[in-house]
Parts: sequence; C-alpha cells; structure tokens
Amino acid sequence: MYFKYCAKCGEKLNDIKCGDDFCKICPSCKQIYGSSPFPVVEVLVVNEFNEILLLKQNYISESKWTVVSGYVNDAETLEEAVAREVKEETGQTVIKCQYISSYYFEPKQLIMIGFLVYVNKAEFSISSEVNDIRWYKIDEVDAVIARENNCSGMHFDKCRPYLEN
Ligand SMILES: [Zn+2]
Repeated sequence: MYFKYCAKCGEKLNDIKCGDDFCKICPSCKQIYGSSPFPVVEVLVVNEFNEILLLKQNYISESKWTVVSGYVNDAETLEEAVAREVKEETGQTVIKCQYISSYYFEPKQLIMIGFLVYVNKAEFSISSEVNDIRWYKIDEVDAVIARENNCSGMHFDKCRPYLEN
C-alpha cells in the first residue's frame, strides 16, 4: 500500500530514499511513509487439553470456521494485539504467545502475522462479530477450517508441527 497524501495533515507526499528503500515523506509535517501493508494478527488458540478454538463468522464464511484475527491498533505491540483480540472475540486469557509465520493477503493488502497461543480453557465470551465458537480436537480441524480466500487453514498447517498429538 502506497500513500499519496499525508494521513496526518493531508499534504501531497514527496518521494524520498530511506537507506536502500524508496519511501514517501510529507513536506509539511515530515512524517515518513513506507510501502507497508496493514498489519493483522492471525491467532491459533490451543488449550491445556490440546483442543483448538475456532470461530464461525458468517461475514467471512457461511460454512467454514476461522482462527481469531484482527487489526493491530496504533501504539500497540503485536503481543498486545494478540492478547486483546483473543480476549475480545473468545473471552480466553493468553498465557503464552509464540510467533509461527506470516502470510501476505493480497486482496486486502494485509500482512497477516501468525501466532500460536496457549490458554487455560475458560467460559466463552464472544464479540458481536462472532456467530458461533467451539473447541475442536486437532484431527477434526482440517475438515472445517476456512481455506478459500482466508489464511486460517494455511496458519493451522504451519502451527501443526508445534501441536501435540
Ligand atoms: Zn503531513
């Protein structure tokens, strides 16, 4: 994603070289813009019984289930975004967070940053975006997880070697 105008003050941006990279700079407020995609965390949640938490979100898929995901907020670390999204969408508390892999989602120019997180199974508390939620056994996930136009399936595959049988 290339910006043409400053998101802070609206001034038209100029080209600038930052080291070896081509960037844009605002001539007025000096804010620098890279050609960055938007960061989104993609989170596979596992509990102490080796169950995988999946969400049913009808705006994403009518039939398939997805992992927790969400935009990273301003002034927030990736780990904070992970813990916040998991809490907001599922009610679970993250006790350990491990980076696994990243994925570029071209349709929306997103960089999906994939984590595997561990929680102690707790009561569900879901956001309004979530239509259904449940724990799956690891060998049940493949049949239900979203792979079309969604990174959930790919992320599950990358996490699979880290999960116990
Ligand atoms: Zn500006």
